[in-house]
Amino acid sequence: MTVQNYKEALEQEIFSIISEAAGALNVDSYVIGGFVRDYLLQRNMPKDIDIVAVGSGIALAKKVAEKLPEKPKVQVFKNFGTAMLQWNDLEVEFVGARKESYRSHSRKPIVEDGTLEDDQNRRDFTINALALSLHEANFGDLLDPFGGVEDLKQKLIRTPLDPDVTYSDDPLRMLRAIRFASQLNFKIEPASLEAISRNKERIKIISKERIVDELNKILMCDKPSIGFSLMYKTGLLQIILPELTRLQGIEEKEGQRHKDNFWHTLEVVDNISENTDDLWLRWAALLHDIGKAPTKRFDKKIGWTFHGHEFVGSKMVFRLFKRLRMPLNDKMKFVQKMVLMSSRPIVLAQDIVTDSAVRRLIFDAGDHVEDLMTLCEADITTKNPKKFKKYRNNFKIVREKIVEVEERDHVRNFQPPISGEDIMKTFNLKPSREIGIIKDAIKEAILEGEIPNEYEAAREFMLKKGKELGLECRK
Ligand code: ATP
Ligand code: MG
Repeated sequence: MTVQNYKEALEQEIFSIISEAAGALNVDSYVIGGFVRDYLLQRNMPKDIDIVAVGSGIALAKKVAEKLPEKPKVQVFKNFGTAMLQWNDLEVEFVGARKESYRSHSRKPIVEDGTLEDDQNRRDFTINALALSLHEANFGDLLDPFGGVEDLKQKLIRTPLDPDVTYSDDPLRMLRAIRFASQLNFKIEPASLEAISRNKERIKIISKERIVDELNKILMCDKPSIGFSLMYKTGLLQIILPELTRLQGIEEKEGQRHKDNFWHTLEVVDNISENTDDLWLRWAALLHDIGKAPTKRFDKKIGWTFHGHEFVGSKMVFRLFKRLRMPLNDKMKFVQKMVLMSSRPIVLAQDIVTDSAVRRLIFDAGDHVEDLMTLCEADITTKNPKKFKKYRNNFKIVREKIVEVEERDHVRNFQPPISGEDIMKTFNLKPSREIGIIKDAIKEAILEGEIPNEYEAAREFMLKKGKELGLECRK
């Protein structure tokens, strides 16, 4: 069999330097994994490059660093037998070829030195086990022991070994399979998909951080629903995000049905992904309806209701983030806010859009008002073209109003035109309840449109309000 050669994949200077360094150490070395896969798929050239040395990866990394004019620092991870260096915009990782054997309770294998074949055997998928030789004698030769190139053509995710072994050894690979299927728009081989279903419980030994990394990557795909529905079908999602899968199902009572909020949610996530690359806004889309499972009720008169699901959902966001060890910072607060406010523009768009309702929306959503609109637009999943057009148009009107009202009234990041101090001085007050009452009344008057958001008007209003409260002006 002739071996294919891909010298042209290795034109970047780094590869000839690694080749020379490996030659000097008398070890064989290979580019392996994502770089080779993405080259053959003609995807964006990855900035992370994985090198296997049949020998010490750490020694090779050090030799390469010596040969580079800038002498970059080598980061050594002794425990893993790996080393990493950064050069220009590249991140190059070196590992010694190894053989791995696993025990049931951990994804940390027992590691021994091995051959290139041993190392390819421990790789997760055939398409990730492709290696290009950096040896002078066969520079660019492709080593493809498992038919990875054919799988690239067939768009197939397949494990090099028995999938039950591959997934049970390191259950993170189940999520990686789904993530790659989603990113590359590949199919997972049926036997592999069944093995994921069988081994799903083993995902519990994986750290939350690693799981969230994969979830985030799936969420950042063009069509995240591919990954989420695979996670659902294999049962992984029920373990990882039960709040979400509880939305699945349609119930019927007295001839009344509600929509399946799980599949609806996946549609919303796909929709929003066409309009934003903001990971957290995509998270908000994923979680915007989670409060609907615990709040679902049937009422004989009005049918199915999910009363207060936005509030309940926003509380659930906190618990979910905490459980998954996600950041409990302003990103989490942003997602909570989006969930909490997710119905506001909808209610608004059903009616005649009044200025005061728009002012309140801007006031409450602040800088996130556009994100909120993006979420609500993505939320339109009706298959009725007439309704679709109507809702779309209503949101367009709301968006225009937001611009118009904000230009005039500046209620985004609202700063009251009259401060508490102004009020205290005017009425000769010590800190007291009345100050809050007046401040609040001024804010309300502005939002309602009774007075413009200006100092003079607000001052006059304050004097009137003070009089009503029986306060006397300081002379
Ligand atoms: P990307 O960088 O786009 O996520 P990648 O394939 O380069 O894709 P990395 O996580 O960078 O993925 O890993 C590099 C290579 O290491 C993979 O191509 C694969 O060969 C191997 N690998 C990574 N994680 C695992 C794992 N859990 N089990 C087996 N092999 C793995
Ligand atoms: Mg990579």
